[in-house]
Amino acid sequence: MNTDIESAKCLICEGETFSCNAKISPFIIYRAKLNISTTMIRYCQICDFAFFQRRLSDKEASLIYANYFEKEYINTRIICEPNFADYMDENNITQNYNENIAISARKIFYKNFFNAINLHPTNILDYGGGVGSVTYDIFAEAGIKVLDVGGNINPSEKYDLIFSAHTAEHLSYPVKNFLEIAPFLKDDGLIFIETPNDWSKNPTTESLKESYNKNILANKMIMHEHISFFSITSLEALVKKIALFPIYTFLYSVGGDSSQTHTICLACKQPKMANDKRMEWKEKIDQLLLINNNQKNLFNQKNKNLIKKIIRKIKKILHFLNNI
Ligand SMILES: [Zn+2]
Repeated sequence: MNTDIESAKCLICEGETFSCNAKISPFIIYRAKLNISTTMIRYCQICDFAFFQRRLSDKEASLIYANYFEKEYINTRIICEPNFADYMDENNITQNYNENIAISARKIFYKNFFNAINLHPTNILDYGGGVGSVTYDIFAEAGIKVLDVGGNINPSEKYDLIFSAHTAEHLSYPVKNFLEIAPFLKDDGLIFIETPNDWSKNPTTESLKESYNKNILANKMIMHEHISFFSITSLEALVKKIALFPIYTFLYSVGGDSSQTHTICLACKQPKMANDKRMEWKEKIDQLLLINNNQKNLFNQKNKNLIKKIIRKIKKILHFLNNI
């Protein structure tokens, strides 16, 4: 298994990769105390996976994610990335408006999703879910164990559902990390993995290849907290690599906002169960996606917040002009 600090081989299938120059964001350099500022972005044609060549050691990752989204993290980030302040609530610096709207919309989607397939797990392992605020809300009746990446777990525990949303893209060694948690799945249990589909905002293999061939992404790629980029193909490749069977893998837009498209893979331990459940659930999930991707609420709410923010800025400027 590839766990070197630099990797040119695909981290999922160990195949050969294309590469382009990339920079490391000043925020990441500062937080992780790195002594380099450039790396490469790599793309595997075989499994459609993209990743930054420079991986993070456990120590570097723990420096980046220490007190995540608390005051010191936010203040450092605003110093490194002044535009980041535009997303934060002026009255409560640790609150990110757009992110809060998106999380509310994601929770609604998850509730509808598990209702659509009539799945009500009673014990859940939330892998990388921070304080578990998402899983505690969507599975109010269930027993939930929240596990940080690298955290310890009772080896005899088994779960109906391993839920991992927005964690895989932060991992330096996704195969290693998911291999560590897969044994905690019950024989008839399910794993739910969601990652943003933000790789160049265009998830087709063709467009990725084209970008690489023309080298147009050179110097535009900046390594930040997301260091692994999954599409439907590469998320399924990851799941197969940890000896699980994908039931259904699909894209959905959060609250119907196509600029926030995520990939979800639902998988299990037995190939027969994967086939049976795919037949049972595919139509129900597709129906839900149709309704979800057509809604416009999230987009409207984000625009309203942006307008409020602009009005506040204009008021501040007027106030300043009045006082000179
Ligand atoms: Zn690959």
